[in-house]
Amino acid sequence: MSAEVLLAHVREVPDFPEPGVLFKDLNPLFADPTAFGAVLDEIAGRWNGQLDLVAGIEARGFIVGAPLAQRLDVGFLPIRKAGKLPGPTRTASYDLEYGTATIEIPADSCADSPRVLLVDDVLATGGTAAAAAGLLAEAGAQVVAFEVLLEIGALGGRTALSGYRVSAVATV
Ligand code: AMP
Repeated sequence: MSAEVLLAHVREVPDFPEPGVLFKDLNPLFADPTAFGAVLDEIAGRWNGQLDLVAGIEARGFIVGAPLAQRLDVGFLPIRKAGKLPGPTRTASYDLEYGTATIEIPADSCADSPRVLLVDDVLATGGTAAAAAGLLAEAGAQVVAFEVLLEIGALGGRTALSGYRVSAVATV
């Protein structure tokens, strides 16, 4: 049910941010409180009572993760891009098509072994989510699953996330 709602609120933008990429813009979903609420309710229903924390990947994982954490009555942990957090931090670097990227969390953020749901908007190659899941696990978290609004199946993100449970509201 929410899959159709979500897919009706995706704008596809060819050749953005670079030639050959079909960008999935979820802003129409975020702009519609009824549709976005239905999607959040579906995700919250899957995990209610099973989590201690929701962690979202900067930046669009924040849009999904913070209201989800509120619905589940658990805390929200923003996973930041490098250089945004005061120390001490724990960091993970991962490969991009050109170069590398680094993400970080406060060093002590998962010291009490919380059950964490990791969230983002889109799963493409899975490199970002795999780095984030590894960072949480190293910090002491139990990564219950990676939950994403839209999975681009052809890019094979689940392979990069083998060992983690992956759940998507819709897959294209
Ligand atoms: P990846 O590490 O390849 O799975 O890329 C995931 C991150 O990049 C996510 O945070 C997405 O927001 C973004 N992303 C990658 N590919 C796309 C795409 N085709 N459309 C929208 N966002 C994308």
